[in-house]
Amino acid sequence: MIPLQRPSMTDDELRAVGEVFATGWLGMGEETTRFEAELRAFLGVREVVACNTGTSALHLALAALQAPRGAEVIVPSLTWTASVQAILMAGLTPVFADVDPVTLNLSAGAARAALSERTAAIMPVHYRGLACDLDPIVTLAEGHGAVVVEDAAHAFGSSYRGHLIGQTGHITCFSFDPIKNITCGEGGAVVTNSERFAGAMALARSMRVLGMDLDTWARRKADRQFHYDVTADGFRYHMPNICAAIGRSQLRRFDAMAARRREIASRYAEAFAENPSIRVLPCDATTTVPFMCVVLAEDRAGFMAHLKARGVSTGVHYLPNHLHTRFRAFRHTELPVTEYAANRIVTLPLFVDQTDAQVDAVIEAVRAFHGAPVTDAPGYPRDATRR
Ligand SMILES: *Cc1c(COP(=O)(O)O)cnc(C)c1O
Repeated sequence: MIPLQRPSMTDDELRAVGEVFATGWLGMGEETTRFEAELRAFLGVREVVACNTGTSALHLALAALQAPRGAEVIVPSLTWTASVQAILMAGLTPVFADVDPVTLNLSAGAARAALSERTAAIMPVHYRGLACDLDPIVTLAEGHGAVVVEDAAHAFGSSYRGHLIGQTGHITCFSFDPIKNITCGEGGAVVTNSERFAGAMALARSMRVLGMDLDTWARRKADRQFHYDVTADGFRYHMPNICAAIGRSQLRRFDAMAARRREIASRYAEAFAENPSIRVLPCDATTTVPFMCVVLAEDRAGFMAHLKARGVSTGVHYLPNHLHTRFRAFRHTELPVTEYAANRIVTLPLFVDQTDAQVDAVIEAVRAFHGAPVTDAPGYPRDATRR
């Protein structure tokens, strides 16, 4: 069976972890600090707070905004459940938005339909790694005194209008979980390039380690005085040295890993361009580091069974969140594109160590499927390119 996704681990990651073992300091420490500095340099951003998961990055970013309890956060229903749970963890209320019929990304128009007086933040999700059209979303948010917290779990290394994700906008959150564009084993980061969020970032940094006043802590530690002050709510969200070492190794290998993802996604796009039985979602491989290849199929169950019989794993990313029991109350508007997508999206294998033979096998298996032509999504523009 060709797997759907898997991490790319080499001797370099193993050596990096071994070096941490040898220091005897497994928890948060110098490796974490180095990883943060390298992420700042790589992304070209002012500030990075590394943490233990992408979910905790989203939670920290939202909590650090200090919005009143119950304030609303607009989020696409078509995202991983972590985006929604992070909003609830921060004591805020998710409000589901629909997505664009071509890209399945949150658009400013869809966000506007979910806006209210209580909106404190908008959370665009760069689905599959393709950047959302951020500028109009930022403009919309700023017009309403809201903050944009990007869920960039899929989009490490992708760019928007010539800037890496994280450089523009307000606050951006990455995930470094095992299958993401880079992994720390598990990990995440809160990032900003805006001075405006310096206070929020300092608070996130303190909340990461139980709400301790880090300045006092550092000062006292230097004086060998065992006193500290707790000045905020806090969590146990720090990134340990072991994970940071894996992340540093992945960052060194990132260009090659990104190139391989682009190559596979481009091969799929080309192979499936004229196939009437499926439609591959658009993905500009020059600006995007593709995280997933998602296609639409009218007879999804038939398509997935067909691929399974040929040894190709598939997935569905994601079941819309507004249909989950816990989240039903957070849908205030119709979500026609999300519900259209919900029945048709299929994720195909895409991972760095996928061999050419495995790519060929996926392409051949897809080619051998003949199903009903894909219906256009509600609002799908007539002139939309199929690639
Ligand atoms: C992976 C992911 C997250 C959460 O990241 P973890 O590191 O797994 O906690 C959040 N949002 C999206 C869209 C994701 O894919």
